Amino acid sequence: MGTDCLFCRIVAGEIPATIVRETATTLAFRDIDPKAPVHVLIIPKEHYADVATLAEGDPGLAGEVLTTAAVVAEEEGLLADGFRLMFNTGPYAGQEVFHVHAHLFGGAPLGPMLAR
Ligand code: 5GP
Ligand code: ZN
Repeated sequence: MGTDCLFCRIVAGEIPATIVRETATTLAFRDIDPKAPVHVLIIPKEHYADVATLAEGDPGLAGEVLTTAAVVAEEEGLLADGFRLMFNTGPYAGQEVFHVHAHLFGGAPLGPMLAR
């Protein structure tokens, strides 16, 4: 995928990001437009378009994304009060970047799960 994909370019170091954790297979960095006091994106370094494609193609890697998200939640001090982990997938969810990413939100009460 490489150069067409924004998050592949972050993985490659071609676009700067505030990285909070890196493993051999995953990267966690702060969202450029945070929607909560803590808003971190967790991605596999390898390109998959969305969580369904990732889970189908490499369930072990999907698990590594969740593990990195949980470690970041702990490092950001979110375990006691809680946090939200979210994968926007496809048009109804408003997915904008088609390199799978978990949104990790926390640091304040997050409100209802969905706007009505
Ligand atoms: P989506 O709507 O696809 O679930 O979420 C995409 C997220 O990526 C948005 O929350 C948006 O703020 C974030 N984002 C878009 N461009 C960049 C960027 O260049 N750097 C970072 N760190 N986040 C970005
Ligand atoms: Zn990509």
